[in-house]
Amino acid sequence: MAIRLRDFSAVQRRLIQRSQALVERRLAKPPCPIPRDMADALRAILAAERPIVDVVYGGSGDGHGTPLARSAGYRITLYQRAFGMDPKRENRLAPLVFHELIHVARGWEFDAEAFENAWFTPAEGARPPTRDDWDLFREQHYQGWWVCVNKRTRRVTDYADRFIVAFPAKGARSRKSDDAIRSER
Ligand SMILES: [Zn+2]
Repeated sequence: MAIRLRDFSAVQRRLIQRSQALVERRLAKPPCPIPRDMADALRAILAAERPIVDVVYGGSGDGHGTPLARSAGYRITLYQRAFGMDPKRENRLAPLVFHELIHVARGWEFDAEAFENAWFTPAEGARPPTRDDWDLFREQHYQGWWVCVNKRTRRVTDYADRFIVAFPAKGARSRKSDDAIRSER
């Protein structure tokens, strides 16, 4: 497997590995249609020898406004906030890890948000797009690499017009109201 964990504690490593295993299980039986090249890219990241993806511990970051995670190229940084203090929150890491893996697989913000919310429930830790995310979607013409949205119905479909997910009403959640602060690539 080509995910390399760096600088995490034993507990954190276990949580990440559990999240990774959960993502692998969903990938084996995807909850919604998934474009083949996206599935191939995710499988390669998770199971093939290449590419090697470094997942790095970013500590507490620089305080206020530090995201939960960020990614650039073949590197994902997970910050302390991603792990939380509440043991019930631990499996919330899976949607976050999945989201960043989609970026590594070349997905845009829109792809990452769509598949995160299609594969994981809010109870599992998926976070619907924030108002800031919607601003970004607008800038990106409501398109991702693999998906697009009908901005009126908020139904997301892939390039073969298959239904992926329907987002809740825009801005139902403000960015400051919870721990969804996240950086974009
Ligand atoms: Zn993202």
